[in-house]
Amino acid sequence: MQKVFHFDSPVEVYKADACVLTCFDARFELAVRKFLRRRGVALYDQIKIPGAARALAAPASDGDRDFVLRMLATSIALHGPERMILTGHADCGAYIGRPAEEVTADIARAAEVIRGAQPSLAVESYFFDFDGVYQL
Ligand SMILES: [Zn+2]
Repeated sequence: MQKVFHFDSPVEVYKADACVLTCFDARFELAVRKFLRRRGVALYDQIKIPGAARALAAPASDGDRDFVLRMLATSIALHGPERMILTGHADCGAYIGRPAEEVTADIARAAEVIRGAQPSLAVESYFFDFDGVYQL
């Protein structure tokens, strides 16, 4: 291997303030980071999937849901988060032409899936719109 970039990353294993499920839509990346910091979430394990909560609420296959739940279990095992933050956003490519209510309904269903799989986690749900963040 040839070093092509120098950067000092922290070596210490961390305790995550939360595990966060988001879409991979980069338009909301800065809002997610700033909002989480405002909510006291500085260090977090982020599960980024197109459509976010849809993979838990209305997965294309059961395997998708299982995969997300395994990622969450791994986050808990490695970094011990006590909060799970579920998100969805406006104009999501996984919900083209669908109303925001369909996204928020999936987030609520996903919250139930999480509560069933990891009952010790405190689950929070948010909808990101282009003008800010709404709590469900
Ligand atoms: Zn999206």
